[in-house]
Amino acid sequence: MNKSHSFLAACVGLVIALGAGFGAANLRSAEATSAPAAFARPDFAAPPPKPPGVDLTLFSALADPSALKKLSRDVEICHDALSAASVTFTEVPAKREGQCGYSEALEISSSLATWEPNPGAPKDLPMTCALAAKLHLWERHVVIPAAEKYLGSPVQEVKVFGTFQCRNVADTDKLSEHAFAKAIDVAGFVLADGREITVLGDYRSSGAEGDFLREIRQRACDLFDVTLGPDYNTAHENHFHLDVGGQHACR
Ligand SMILES: [Zn+2]
Repeated sequence: MNKSHSFLAACVGLVIALGAGFGAANLRSAEATSAPAAFARPDFAAPPPKPPGVDLTLFSALADPSALKKLSRDVEICHDALSAASVTFTEVPAKREGQCGYSEALEISSSLATWEPNPGAPKDLPMTCALAAKLHLWERHVVIPAAEKYLGSPVQEVKVFGTFQCRNVADTDKLSEHAFAKAIDVAGFVLADGREITVLGDYRSSGAEGDFLREIRQRACDLFDVTLGPDYNTAHENHFHLDVGGQHACR
């Protein structure tokens, strides 16, 4: 190789090296614009992460005490749980009536079955979210399957005597959980095939209607704080009293 050839080779090498260098620099600047900044400032305005919710559609929720407690303690988790299970509801304004009343109550607009006041009962059925969520669990995982098992038809309508009422527990001077919209009195059920099953007429029957009612009352005890029915006393001859007041009874 003579001198002029080696000079030419050096020039070509320099051009190639410069070209590669610019290419790498361009690549680095393209990466820099698309990659996230390594030292982003924390976003202090971001809300704290939400605790995990409660899935009311899972049968296992019935036997999960921590999930059931969450429904009572955190109204936001409870509202989210109802919505996620496709229960629609309307929040109702707080109410004060002497020593009775409630805040953060709601009325169920639609669930799997309809929740209907019995003829002559108050038209509105305000209840705490914890009561609504447990009623949904009972309806979905206990009442409807038991109706299909014993009676061959799902429940379409739940008949209710009432929820909120400013009164004492019968024959006592203690306020009832009804006084705080934490209790419901269930009178009976209408099945999809039109049959009507009532606590008053069918609880003591030896047939499938009685088996159905006795099973759903017994299993309500796993969910509600207090479950009372015809076995308890004559005041409960025609309904199941279910409440989330924090006392415990299964009679
Ligand atoms: Zn009651």
